[in-house]
Amino acid sequence: MQKRDYYEILGVARNASDEELKKAYRRCAMKYHPDRNPGDAAALEAFKECKEAYEVLSEPSKRRLYDAHGHAAFEQGMGGGGGPGAGFGDMGDIFGDIFGNIFGGGGPGRGPRRGADIGYVMELDLEDAVAGIEKRIEIPTLAPCEPCKGTGSEDGKLETCATCHGHGQVRMQRGIFTMQQPCPHCGGRGQTISTPCAACHGNGRVEEEKVLSVKIPAGVDSGDRIRLAGEGEAGPAGTAPGDLYVEVRVRPHDIFVRDGDDLHCDVPIRISQAALGDIVRVPTLGGEAEIRIPAETQTGKVFRLRDKGVKSVRSRRPGDLYCKVVVETPVNLTAEQRTLLEQFEATFVGEGARKHSPKSSTFIDGVKGFWDRMVS
Ligand SMILES: [Zn+2]
Ligand SMILES: [Zn+2]
Repeated sequence: MQKRDYYEILGVARNASDEELKKAYRRCAMKYHPDRNPGDAAALEAFKECKEAYEVLSEPSKRRLYDAHGHAAFEQGMGGGGGPGAGFGDMGDIFGDIFGNIFGGGGPGRGPRRGADIGYVMELDLEDAVAGIEKRIEIPTLAPCEPCKGTGSEDGKLETCATCHGHGQVRMQRGIFTMQQPCPHCGGRGQTISTPCAACHGNGRVEEEKVLSVKIPAGVDSGDRIRLAGEGEAGPAGTAPGDLYVEVRVRPHDIFVRDGDDLHCDVPIRISQAALGDIVRVPTLGGEAEIRIPAETQTGKVFRLRDKGVKSVRSRRPGDLYCKVVVETPVNLTAEQRTLLEQFEATFVGEGARKHSPKSSTFIDGVKGFWDRMVS
């Protein structure tokens, strides 16, 4: 598998500062940390990838090497201690990988013994993300070739690979370690084909546009991933297929902004409603609700509607809806409205006027103090 560029993995520019790197790494780690994605092999891989990228780029000497030579900078044997994760704190990881190769035959997704996982990004409206939905998706994938039943052999005959004698693995000397690698001759299958299947050219798999129905549970949010076991690419030579990971991305909504389980929205009201008080209707995802605006409400005041937020896939009770009142300046005034407002404005004269405007009173005092300090 082609190794991805470290900067690309972290999603930063090549001239990113240490601070930017740290931030990007923290973001990745939060998203893919095994504790937050238990049992999710793809997330674990992504987590390791981020960790490795950060370990190299956060170390100035290693970063220079990487900038100059790319991944090749670290490919000369781990025995030399120059590997990307060769700090003392990571010895466990290195030995884990080596012993994994020798004894475990590689984990899921590693080696040629299983089909590749597929990632799919599904965009959803907020309403659908909250209520849950079943959606049909089309994904380009590799399916087992029908004529040869995935074997890749025209006549169905398979021969034992002469290079690895059917093991699928060959031993490699790397410094002091002996490691096993997939056999380059048979691609790790342990078997070769004398007459390749005409339909798939011996590959055993064919490209296919697969149509699937995906059930999205209620309450998902951007970044949530749904794993569909066995719906990834077909494995080579009839081996197990990979998994499909559907990642949810929720489109911005016209009215609501989602923050975890809570929703936020702006509720415009008139200056007279704000001053006199009123009952206004507000939208919620479950229909309309009412909020009672008390007299003398200032713009920016937030009203909380309990349980009118989102019940996420993880939470037991729904979040809340926060409605922020925004007092709107009236426009397109009629002659009558204009006259009334002029009369209203004319009442704000003299010393007594200040008691009607709590905010501008403090503002005026503040400005006065500011000027006094400037002058002195
Ligand atoms: Zn072989
Ligand atoms: Zn075939």
